[in-house]
Formats: sequence, C-alpha cells, structure tokens
Amino acid sequence: MSEPPPSMPPAALHSPSAAMACPTCRAAWRGAVTCSRCGTDLTALMRVAVRAWEWRQATRAALYAGNRAIEALALAHAACQVHTTPHGQRLLALALLVNGHMAEAYALIEQVLQE
Ligand SMILES: [Zn+2]
Repeated sequence: MSEPPPSMPPAALHSPSAAMACPTCRAAWRGAVTCSRCGTDLTALMRVAVRAWEWRQATRAALYAGNRAIEALALAHAACQVHTTPHGQRLLALALLVNGHMAEAYALIEQVLQE
C-alpha cells in the first residue's frame, strides 16, 4: 500500500460526494472497465476507486488498533481526497473525532447528513 500524502487540503473535506464518472462523457461509472456510453477505458478510474477502498480499510484497521489515530486520520483524508463517498466521509468524521478535531468532525457530519 502506498503512503497517503502527509496532509490534505481543507477543501477535501468539503468537496461534494461526487459519484465517479467517465472522464470523456461524464456518464456515471457503474463499476465496469469500459464506459457503457462511449467506450472509454476506465481502468485508471477503477484503480482510484480500489486505492480509496484500500485506504478506507486501512483507516478501519488503524482505528481498531486504538493507538494509531493520527495514521487513521491521514488515511481517511487520503481516501476522501481520491474518492469521496458517504461511507468514507463517515470514517473521516470518526477519525477526526478520535483525534480531537471536534469542529471539523461536526462540520463534516452536518454535511453528510444533508446529502
Ligand atoms: Zn464515457
């Protein structure tokens, strides 16, 4: 697993929970290797989704360990930056809470609840 960037921009917290889409025609990605609308190869998109999933899994493991809160937060930030999902945002909110970033966690929870 690659290391996530050491810090993430605050904007990563506030980006919309955008579903992944074909970079060519913007059709919603349905988990296929090829876009069903325009035929674009979506392998790179799948790699990004897998990387985000791996980082969310690593976030869970770090949170469960009980003594790797800072690592969990970095992983959760990284996952949300490359692929924002409601589940990833909840994990990030939990990592923020565990690290004592109450205001950021509260803002993110409010955002997730409104989506
Ligand atoms: Zn397409």
